[in-house]
Amino acid sequence: MAKYQEQQLKIHNSLSGKKEKFIPINEGHVGMYVCGPTVYSNVHLGNCRTFMSFDMIFRYLKHLDFKVRYVRNITDAGHLEDDADEGEDKIAKKARLEQIEPMEVVQRYTVDFHTILQKFNFLPPSIEPTATGHIIEQIEIIKEILEHGFAYEINGSVYFDVVKFNKTHEYGKLSGRKLEDMISNTRELTAQDEKRNPQDFALWKKAEPQHIMRWPSPWGDGFPGWHLECTAMSTKYLGETFDIHGGGMDLKFPHHECEIAQSEASHGNAPVNYWMHANMLTMNGKKMAKSTGNNILPNEIFSGENEILSKPFAPSVVRFFMMQAHYTSILDLSNEALLASEKGYHRLMDALGLIDGLTASKSSSIDLAAWKQRCYDAMNDDFNTPVLIAVLFEGVKFINQIKEDKEQISETDLMLLSETMNVFVFEVLGLESPAQLNASSDKIGGVVSLLIQLRNEARANKDFATSDKIRDELAALGIQLMDGKEGTTFSII
Ligand code: AMP
Ligand code: ZN
Repeated sequence: MAKYQEQQLKIHNSLSGKKEKFIPINEGHVGMYVCGPTVYSNVHLGNCRTFMSFDMIFRYLKHLDFKVRYVRNITDAGHLEDDADEGEDKIAKKARLEQIEPMEVVQRYTVDFHTILQKFNFLPPSIEPTATGHIIEQIEIIKEILEHGFAYEINGSVYFDVVKFNKTHEYGKLSGRKLEDMISNTRELTAQDEKRNPQDFALWKKAEPQHIMRWPSPWGDGFPGWHLECTAMSTKYLGETFDIHGGGMDLKFPHHECEIAQSEASHGNAPVNYWMHANMLTMNGKKMAKSTGNNILPNEIFSGENEILSKPFAPSVVRFFMMQAHYTSILDLSNEALLASEKGYHRLMDALGLIDGLTASKSSSIDLAAWKQRCYDAMNDDFNTPVLIAVLFEGVKFINQIKEDKEQISETDLMLLSETMNVFVFEVLGLESPAQLNASSDKIGGVVSLLIQLRNEARANKDFATSDKIRDELAALGIQLMDGKEGTTFSII
């Protein structure tokens, strides 16, 4: 029997505002689309939080034996600086400033994105399509929307007619906004505006002569509106209606609202059954964002080269920190929080390291089956990772108590304990143990072990200048030393 038949998963659906039983369209299969990054700069830790939430969700769905097609796109064109269809294309602007090709910008930051995600131990999505690879599909959708009368062409651009759409459909149902309120809260259109109403949004924009990212279309040379790419790629790979659509909370409006409108206006169906939104990572209480400068890059955390944190932190520690909050809660990054997570992470890893050395008894004094089910209950309850981690720490307590002969465990239960801890820690939460990381290279491992030995000698001689130098220089190279009960271990990041 597949695990999803034994476990009833519930998902908080942003569309209904309720936790709902998860019933996929095709039994045993899940189609999931997540809006990917706009590759014009290095991903900051805030971006990573959203993608990590969906990596965890992908992992748990797979663990439940669902066959998941996970599509996460790369936005490599069409995302303008301003959500109201104004300003330069973010990628074209970067290309202009650096005097390189837009596709060089795209390549550089796509590689950075993948490198960072790999350090965080993400699973790759099933398909990672790009906006520029789907211009034809986007043009086809615009033609359909025009045919159905929900868009209009003006001076080589095409706009979605929100007011007309709202007469027969409900624009604003995802974000809970009412079109009338939006209209009364926005400025009047000026004579230069091409839009009929300020709420209308671009499906296709005419490219001015200086605009370098351009494609031919029935309306002249231009480029697609940002919202359209996700409609085109999700429909192509997952169908007109699919199971799960995710993204950060900040994408609910206008991006996802516009996706719903585009789908309903082109093929008549609601595109998504379960809308999921991950909450924001903040720093000093404010949203982490590229535009305000209130952000930190993952590599700055791994190397310790930043002015915010007192020391470097390994990717798995940062991942553990993220998993300690529910994906729908705001999470604030601070030095104290990361130090606490690091302690917790090591406590968990130390306990896992003890399991193999435990001795089994004739019978168990603990109800392991009930504990295992509580791990599932936590995840079935809208992927509640903080509750899961609390239950896993009960497992840590069992391990320590069994070691101290305060509790007994049977042979079968010991296997169950080991398997359940490993499955949830490594497979579902996606953490890596220091030992797994150490195994990444024998030669480097040998050299680092030698340096650890020299550092220990320096410390024993109270030569802290040398011992700190070894730690810091290794950190700058991406090798983090971690002092624990069992001695010093390291991770290569
Ligand atoms: P962008 O590259 O700007 O399109 O953003 C990529 C993803 O990162 C989107 O899903 C955003 O919602 C998400 N995101 C941006 N800032 C944050 C943040 N501070 N915390 C969590 N997610 C964020
Ligand atoms: Zn999107």
